[in-house]
Amino acid sequence: MNQTYKKKILLLTTGGTIASGPTNEGLAPVLNGDKLLSLLGPASNGYSITVRDILSLDSSNIQPEEWKLIARSTASAFSSQEGYDGVVITHGTDTMAYTASILSFMLRNPPIPVVITGSQLPIFHPLTDALENLRTAFAMAASGIRGVFVAFNRKIILGTRAVKVRTTGFDAFESVNSPCAAWIDGTGLRVNHDAIPLVFDPFSLEDHICGSVFLLKLTPGLDPGIFDMLGKMNYRGIVIEAFGLGGLHFIRRDLISKLQMTSELGITVVVCSQCLYERSDFSIYQAGQKALEQGVLQGFDMTTEAAVTKLMWALGKTEDLQEVRRLFSQSLFGEVVI
Ligand code: ASP
Repeated sequence: MNQTYKKKILLLTTGGTIASGPTNEGLAPVLNGDKLLSLLGPASNGYSITVRDILSLDSSNIQPEEWKLIARSTASAFSSQEGYDGVVITHGTDTMAYTASILSFMLRNPPIPVVITGSQLPIFHPLTDALENLRTAFAMAASGIRGVFVAFNRKIILGTRAVKVRTTGFDAFESVNSPCAAWIDGTGLRVNHDAIPLVFDPFSLEDHICGSVFLLKLTPGLDPGIFDMLGKMNYRGIVIEAFGLGGLHFIRRDLISKLQMTSELGITVVVCSQCLYERSDFSIYQAGQKALEQGVLQGFDMTTEAAVTKLMWALGKTEDLQEVRRLFSQSLFGEVVI
């Protein structure tokens, strides 16, 4: 008898549009993982899939507590007794990029692929993109390539580089400032090994995070008093999406002197750009250099989602601000080119 080995995949479901159906209050998650697999049909037959429904939420409701649950549930698949070849996580698209980024930091050196996917239309919809996205996710989960990835529209994106860029289009995620990790074409799964950091080290679950990180999008004339408010609210980290290549206003409304105050309060500040593409570099303009003089960290080519979650992760690991700087200033899973 010719029995081919089927890759063993753990499917974790968390809700999202992919699992949603109409309710009196609008679309909400109603389907479990078994139902998703039955709608996926024969494409799931090539794998040996175990389903665990861990959440049933619109991803707007996925917060640091849920990230921890997702991280721990994923890590439970890593023991050799379980023998899984990969993990697929279904998730709403709205905050998928945040979850993908934080999982990339919480799950340090995962021993198997971890692939997050979802869809723009519910799986039961006749025109759904869910089937394609699930097929892509399972193919990557069976690839043996260590890391955390997003699968969407036949593309595989590093978890730290995914950004949702469309509200309804099927090509909803982009790999920002980095090529795709893989894609599907007529030859199957095509992996771009150059785009995927090599993972050699043993796995560790690093799921202690600090949720007190504020994302501030700069607007012309922003009142510097906002920093006093954030200090009073005990924020430990602030990510500033500044202008262009890197600059903050300092005439009339002086944001720079407030940066000095935040550092005296022990708040770690990261500056990045409002521009989605390419690197920020605060060393070029006077309005950026003045910020650097206050000891802020630079996000460089990191996505905002990666900058926010990496700061949460670094602040969760230590209270030592020098150590936070050290942790933040290295690339953990391809999120930044230093
Ligand atoms: N609101 C949904 C969610 O993020 C959107 C989606 O899944 O596409 O859960």
